[in-house]
Amino acid sequence: MSLRTGILLVVSGPSGSGKTTLCKRLSHSGEARHSISCTTRAPRPGEIHGEHYHFVTLEEFEEKLAAGEFLEHALVHGNRYGTLRSEVLGYLEAGADVVMDIDVQGAAQVRASDDVAIQRALVDLFVMPESENELRSRLVGRGTDSEEVIALRMENALGEISHWPQYTYRLLSRTPEEDYTRFLSLLVAERLRISRTLVG
Ligand code: 5GP
Repeated sequence: MSLRTGILLVVSGPSGSGKTTLCKRLSHSGEARHSISCTTRAPRPGEIHGEHYHFVTLEEFEEKLAAGEFLEHALVHGNRYGTLRSEVLGYLEAGADVVMDIDVQGAAQVRASDDVAIQRALVDLFVMPESENELRSRLVGRGTDSEEVIALRMENALGEISHWPQYTYRLLSRTPEEDYTRFLSLLVAERLRISRTLVG
């Protein structure tokens, strides 16, 4: 019988790229486990502690950081975010695939990790709209935001997008169905790598 180690699928992209929807769909379909991050931001309506995030205070976050509990962490739009090692490592060892929806700073830290298990498991993907026009129309949203707010979102998104060449894979977003097919195909292909095989 042969078994394999898990894949750590790191997904980044600007807001409006559809990356969160892709990650959620993957975990809801049972294909991968979603790593639940810690954040110091307040829950949005409908968000559940322990499901969408572990909502923590700044003190709690700093305690975990000092105790070395984070695999990566970052400051995003004024709030702290971090991935607990415990959300990732045991699952990979057990052969489960883990998907992480994290920003470009966090992805750079995971890429730089000297943990052999992380390096063997890592697959990084950047999701982005096909054009600036497409990005703008996605960020305009419901049309209730001011020109300034939209311009700021656009600037932030373009700043994030500038990091795509650091990733191994890039998905130019089209329709949700097409995107998901390509996203799942990447995971399915990565599962076939001989280097993940444990012969036992
Ligand atoms: P939101 O607050 O809208 O859920 O997420 C804001 C940003 O933080 C998104 O780009 C998301 O990918 C990123 N993010 C969420 N969790 C983490 C994490 O654990 N680490 C890092 N580095 N970024 C995260």
